[in-house]
Amino acid sequence: MGTISIDGITAKPGEKVFGFLEVGTTSVNTYRIPIAIINGVAEGKTLALLGGTHGVEFASIEAVIRTIRNANPQKMRGTILAVPVLNGPQFEHRTAFLSPFDQLNQNRQFPGDLDGTLSQRTAHEVFSKIVSKADALCDCHGGDITEDLDDYVIARQSDDEALNRMAIEMAKCFPAKMIDARNWRVRADALGGPVKGLSAVAQDEFKIPCITSEAGCPYPVRERNVQFHYKGIQNLLKYFGIIEGTPELTDAPINPDGYRAKAKKGGIWWPKVEIGQRVDVGQELGYMQDLFGNIIETYESPKKGYVRFLRVWYSVNVGEPLVGVSYS
Ligand SMILES: [Zn+2]
Repeated sequence: MGTISIDGITAKPGEKVFGFLEVGTTSVNTYRIPIAIINGVAEGKTLALLGGTHGVEFASIEAVIRTIRNANPQKMRGTILAVPVLNGPQFEHRTAFLSPFDQLNQNRQFPGDLDGTLSQRTAHEVFSKIVSKADALCDCHGGDITEDLDDYVIARQSDDEALNRMAIEMAKCFPAKMIDARNWRVRADALGGPVKGLSAVAQDEFKIPCITSEAGCPYPVRERNVQFHYKGIQNLLKYFGIIEGTPELTDAPINPDGYRAKAKKGGIWWPKVEIGQRVDVGQELGYMQDLFGNIIETYESPKKGYVRFLRVWYSVNVGEPLVGVSYS
């Protein structure tokens, strides 16, 4: 097992070291990517683990921090390259979805641009110096400001069947209620257009399997959401043989059908269900109200299932998703 060095941050076999990669400067500050290199004592796989690609998805950030804290390189084969918070600007400024510096969504900027704005440089830096050295990528997410998400994993599906299968196996390492493994082109259509620049493009870029774990909301940071990500990561480390043990794989349904309600008009959203709650056919999920107190639209679940996505914000704009039910 060799020494690992990234931009002068050096971990000898059996060491856990911390440091920062410089990304770019604003007029008075330098923005940096925090990185932990946890180098095992024997040869093995390298897992790139990202938290805070969206900087307010805190349960996932906390899970990466706990992974760093609890990892014992003296008992590891291989390496963990972990970034607790990739999107420092969003983390520090508490903005929803976009960086306050360039108004870009960090998870649409990969593989990045060395000569670009802060988010584009961040994408370039983490891809070229961290993800390019890994055998697999796990990017941990959850609900952004106004959102709440219930335990699922997106397994990247590219043009390489072997990588696709591996990404699904990685997704099964998480105690997920469902796995989204739609082909990325199908998925892009479902999201209303081609989605470019996801961190999962590393599957095409570096030929490594990629997953995105999703659970939680910015506030409160729930322990069960932290545990979802944390247990998934621990299982993933077992799956790749980086730590001892046999991974427990879930048999969560892959690509179950579902329902997604969008606001037909803007107004005030009153959800009638909780995230994760089981719902019946015809059960009221919530309603939209105008500024004079009139109910303008009610939403019911077309089938039995559970609440996988919930808008948790009083004011809602036209076209925004309100609630998602998975029929599983
Ligand atoms: Zn996210």
